[in-house]
Amino acid sequence: MSELLDIRPLPREAGSAINLLREEEDASRLKALASYEILDSEAEKSYDDIARLAAYVCAAPAGMISFFGENRQWVKSLFCTGAFAGKALGFPHDGFREANLHEPGSVLQLPDMHADPHSASQKRGHTRPRFYAAAPLYAPAGEILGSVSVLDRRARSLNGEQCHALETLARQVMELLEMRRTLIGLSMANAKLGQQNVTDALTGIPNRRAYDQKLTEEYSRAKRTGAPLSLLMLDIDNFKQYNDNFGHLAGDSALQSVARVLLSSLRPYDFLARYGGEEFAIILPSTDLADAIVVAERVRGLVAASEFPHRKFTISVGVSRLDVDAGTRALVQAADNGLYRAKASGRNKVVVGRLNDHSPVGSATP
Ligand code: GH3
Ligand code: MG
Ligand code: MG
Repeated sequence: MSELLDIRPLPREAGSAINLLREEEDASRLKALASYEILDSEAEKSYDDIARLAAYVCAAPAGMISFFGENRQWVKSLFCTGAFAGKALGFPHDGFREANLHEPGSVLQLPDMHADPHSASQKRGHTRPRFYAAAPLYAPAGEILGSVSVLDRRARSLNGEQCHALETLARQVMELLEMRRTLIGLSMANAKLGQQNVTDALTGIPNRRAYDQKLTEEYSRAKRTGAPLSLLMLDIDNFKQYNDNFGHLAGDSALQSVARVLLSSLRPYDFLARYGGEEFAIILPSTDLADAIVVAERVRGLVAASEFPHRKFTISVGVSRLDVDAGTRALVQAADNGLYRAKASGRNKVVVGRLNDHSPVGSATP
């Protein structure tokens, strides 16, 4: 909903006690409102239904749900019939909030606003309601977030039952808001869980599951666009020895350091994942074999040149390029073959793997 109401706060005397009270109240109200993410939200039928019901039970031509934002009254839902249908409503003062500071808890009624001096200033072209009644929307900690209100063109008042109904509807709006806050919390928790599902707990880089997803995505893209796709499989050399000599905790932090070094050597669109144990995979979208070898050499050289606690590390790398007809299994198998041959031919090497490579290890150069 838009801001149909022209609300101007009553003048506040600087430094007065009631001003301080209002400022505190403003801050905690805005904080509560933010937790519901309700201001400037889309129209929703459940709120529209309550605005309609408010008008109906109070026999009024207009029902409204609004919230007190910062220096504005924002209308979530407005139901209008008869005199008010299709018109912008002008409601020229913040009487509800002011009155509620003095007399909290009850339904506020302004039986004849035309007789009220604060309503003298009025925007041109706005239909000016004469009667206004509002039930406050109380947050659990007591802040008044807004109101469920009804408006009429004639001077009048609500009877006891109508006041009671309006308060009941205000409580219903609070129920909706609480549900909204629960859903916000749930979706945040879900997003966090989703993130955890695809992140390796030790190194913080994408895990095997994320790698599988990414490889499937990139395969489809390569198939669709004809762009090349390459893969590197990396394995830390003699890592078992490091664990044996310096312990598993030292091994863990070495793995984290290697992951950081690998990450720092990549372009933004390259995708590094922990494949498992001390093995990593790097998916290289839009990268041909020649460029993939360059990347692999750069990564290998960087790790070999980096300092780690206790001793240096080297990695062996298998490289392969996608053959779209053979699919991703063949791509992975070829990179694996390359890695095997890099190990067998002395480690700290980059070797291009072929799918059915049965040649002797000594001949396994790119
Ligand atoms: P190679 O050069 O042939 O790859 O030798 P390697 O010792 O690296 O390979 P091997 O497969 O014999 O041993 C891998 C070691 O990696 C054994 C395992 O304990 C260690 N490792 C795997 N995952 C982790 C981990 O999360 N933390 C630690 N600390 N060690 C790990
Ligand atoms: Mg290893
Ligand atoms: Mg290994």
